[in-house]
Amino acid sequence: MLDATTTAPQIKGLYIDGRWVPGAGQFDDLNPNDGSVWARVPNAGISETKQAIEAAHRAFPDWANRPFQERAHLILKIADVWEARAADYVAAAQYEGGGWYGKGMFEAGHVAETFRAAAGLCYSSIGEVLPSEHRKVSTAIRVSMGVVGVISPWNVPGILTSRGFAFAMAFGNTIVLKPSEETPYAGGLFFAEILEEAGIPPGVFNVITASRERTPEVGDELIDNPLVKGISFTGSTPVGRRIAAKCGAHLKKCCIELGGKDSLIVLEDADMDRATSSASFGAFMHQGQICMSVEKVLVQEQLYPEFLRQFVARVSKLKTGDTADKSNVIGPLINDRQVARVQAQLDDAIAKGAKVALGGGISGRFVEPTILTHVTPDMDIWRDETFGPVAVVTPFKTDAEAIAMSNDTEYGLSSGIITANEERALAMAQHLETGMCHVNCSCINDEPHAPFGGTKASGVGRHGGRWAMETFSETRWITLDRGGRPYPPVF
Ligand code: NAD
Repeated sequence: MLDATTTAPQIKGLYIDGRWVPGAGQFDDLNPNDGSVWARVPNAGISETKQAIEAAHRAFPDWANRPFQERAHLILKIADVWEARAADYVAAAQYEGGGWYGKGMFEAGHVAETFRAAAGLCYSSIGEVLPSEHRKVSTAIRVSMGVVGVISPWNVPGILTSRGFAFAMAFGNTIVLKPSEETPYAGGLFFAEILEEAGIPPGVFNVITASRERTPEVGDELIDNPLVKGISFTGSTPVGRRIAAKCGAHLKKCCIELGGKDSLIVLEDADMDRATSSASFGAFMHQGQICMSVEKVLVQEQLYPEFLRQFVARVSKLKTGDTADKSNVIGPLINDRQVARVQAQLDDAIAKGAKVALGGGISGRFVEPTILTHVTPDMDIWRDETFGPVAVVTPFKTDAEAIAMSNDTEYGLSSGIITANEERALAMAQHLETGMCHVNCSCINDEPHAPFGGTKASGVGRHGGRWAMETFSETRWITLDRGGRPYPPVF
């Protein structure tokens, strides 16, 4: 619950087995706007992680075997409680996450929809009837797995945490959530308050928060513990690779959603207003700290000069500053490490000949919305994820060249194409190596029931709707033989 005068939360503890319990000490949860301590949060260790996993394991049989409508009704209740507390979420996203007020509002609405989509999934088909060589009743049935460990990031803590567990839980799995140490409340303990109020049975949903230093041991326990049957991870590619490798060693199912280096391709017949607004929203929403952020804007050369002029004019109107002020659309980066990464990419690009068309200034954790031109493939910013408010604008001649430029990165999350010619866009979309592609829209798109995920170094597995059910269930082949199958007579 947030204190109305200070906007700081009253932290109740870790949430394990339906109870609030202390951690082994506490850690500081900072407001990135000014570096002040926004909250003190319990620091879980291996012991608390084990307790949470065991509670989830105990809760699993009852939860999985409840009538599906009962699970659906409880999950719909979560959506209602969430909506009643939406203002608290928005404040947490502003003060703990450093996000613009409008971004928090958008997330709050999306999260409620995520729970409703997850509740709806309870009513969908859970299998298929197959033809059988021997006239068996041959069925492929999806069953829940058990305990699912969810590790979520800080940048969009409401949406990315809720989508990480809502579908898995709706399908009968039980959850241990470890949110990011940067947003332990908005992405973790706030959800525990909501699910407790909604009446989710003890043990079905557990939250452990851990400092940056404790995270590796807590994360290892969450993956290595044999009671955990699946992992949902959203975060950076280096950490995701490590987690996928560990899951592989245990032969555990995992859904791994990672970073991106997305391109928005603007063709010469594009509507200019749509093109510049798609680029501006895509590149600068949440200071570019979205996995699907538009990091490269590839513009057909005939349109390039006019696009650049109008894009710079549009972006120069975005206000930067403390997100306590609702009119500041560009807030701080989440931490100093992130600022250093953006600074290093800008320095490298400028030293190698890139030109700053707008911005470029950095003050503390605030990075001005920045537009770079004359970027070449030998610069780090061409291929590596920036995760800051920087857009690279580059001209191209042919569609094939735009596709090659877009694909010239290890990542493959999302892409966008702005054009009046849908047929041409669909032909291009087939060659873009991304898990998602949006025509006449920005790369940033997410709907709770749609298949969300990347290719290449952007991850494996899909979240959203029935694809999440496939991710967080096992398929079993179960048959009824009615005397039809002959055996070799020798037996
Ligand atoms: P991160 O990888 O640093 O952290 C993500 C989560 O992993 C956090 O909860 C963190 O505490 C945890 N973690 C870190 N080390 C761990 C370890 N050794 N074992 C277990 N858990 C560990 O990423 P971040 O900085 O929180 O998020 C930003 C990154 O996430 C960006 O690269 C962004 O593109 C990516 N991202 C991807 C998606 C997507 O859906 N594809 C969505 C949002 C963010």
